Amino acid sequence: MDQGIKAGDRKQEAEGKQLSVELSGKRVLVVGLGKSGLAAAHFLKARGARVTVSDARPATLIAEISEMLEQGYMVEAGSHGLLTFRRQDLIVVSPGVPMSTPELKQVRAMGAHIIGELELGAEFLLGEIVAVTGSNGKTTTTTLLGEILKAAGRPTLVGGNIGLPVTALVADSTPETWSVIEVSSFQLETVETFKPRIALVLNITPDHLDRHGSFAVYAAVKARITEFQTAEDFLVLNGEDKDTQLVAAKTKAQIYWFSGRRPIKQGAFVHGESIFFTPREGAKPEPVMPVAEIPLAGAHNVENVLAAVCAARLAGVASETIRSTVAAFKAVEHRLEFVREVAGVRYYNDSKATNVDATMKAIEAFPGGIHLILGGKDKGSDYTVLAPLLRERVKTVITIGSAAEKIERQLDGVVKIEGAKTLDRAVAFAQEAAVAGDTVLLAPACASFDQFENYEQRGRVFKELIVALP
Ligand code: ADP
Repeated sequence: MDQGIKAGDRKQEAEGKQLSVELSGKRVLVVGLGKSGLAAAHFLKARGARVTVSDARPATLIAEISEMLEQGYMVEAGSHGLLTFRRQDLIVVSPGVPMSTPELKQVRAMGAHIIGELELGAEFLLGEIVAVTGSNGKTTTTTLLGEILKAAGRPTLVGGNIGLPVTALVADSTPETWSVIEVSSFQLETVETFKPRIALVLNITPDHLDRHGSFAVYAAVKARITEFQTAEDFLVLNGEDKDTQLVAAKTKAQIYWFSGRRPIKQGAFVHGESIFFTPREGAKPEPVMPVAEIPLAGAHNVENVLAAVCAARLAGVASETIRSTVAAFKAVEHRLEFVREVAGVRYYNDSKATNVDATMKAIEAFPGGIHLILGGKDKGSDYTVLAPLLRERVKTVITIGSAAEKIERQLDGVVKIEGAKTLDRAVAFAQEAAVAGDTVLLAPACASFDQFENYEQRGRVFKELIVALP
């Protein structure tokens, strides 16, 4: 345990794998020209593949198109042609494109080889892979873990669902590299052999039900992170989340648990005022750090730290390095980010709370006096589960966006609700309603696409409005 996993262990295997993926001269179709689709296309072309790209958006909306044509890509935009899909040796789908897309379904039924960008990149990545999934906390935990490995002097790459797509990391990887990859449920839909050395499942709570169809399907997709792990690999699971616990039954990897509530036989936990790590069953728990040194708000962030502690110790990082890195870590932007205090009212930007569970965690981070801005684009969520927490801690709910009506209907009679429609009006309402000691919280439980480009823009607009308050 003390040395943990030796980087380079995976080298032979990686070299073997690379030989098996011969791309040169192959006809490959990349579906969806988002960030990872583009990265996949460039990666494939650089390896000699004959790349076609297909995106259902009109060409006028895809900024990179003329450049891609110039570089010799075959480009199809505006719709997908079944013929384009049928003539390929390999199809690489972007995470934004559902497998239920009719052309994909048809060629899959005909035996087409379809993988995701994650699978393609991971196949070529050298060194060790640590993969982080969960409904919430992925970016925070991935970023923190990346910082810890860097502080320990490991050559570290961070990417996947955040920052650079996996195919864009490959060129910088060496057998000594540790790649910390954030993995979304969309990316897990298309895995075939993805085998991280350490996999983390932070929690499984309802999200993206509009795309996956049901919670059972969504939970099963999350569990695929461990599907190809073997006994030499590690799986880090949340001991307090019942749907995450079920993943334990599906793995061959060695399981490490984390819990903020009770001692754990093998894994990380909080006991009294401190975090401990037990390296194996029967071993003495090692103290890692006092909980009070975690600079992030909310019990959910203690869970993220516990998950990172497990993975970092498994990677052989010393507890002192973990402790000092955690203590210096800053909240990632738009994740329960403190913006400003005005007239005794504290304003927090949690624009990344795009599902109900993240909103619940944000509310739980404050004892009461909350004015909560909810709404945006609904993802088929059930907002009634918020009721008990709202009664306990929230003074006003202020709704925005296209989900407003559903939220108002589901929360009718629970707390005072103001319909503001837009974010600027919501901030004005909140400022009006709040008194010194209160908290104004943007944790909308919805996607942003009805009124904003993405959650980042929504968060930035919110922060600008707060900064402009007199
Ligand atoms: P992800 O990448 O999974 O979306 P983030 O770290 O970006 O995760 O956080 C997304 C949202 O979930 C934010 O609103 C954040 O405050 C909240 N959050 C972070 N960690 C957790 C957790 N462990 N459980 C529940 N909510 C969390």
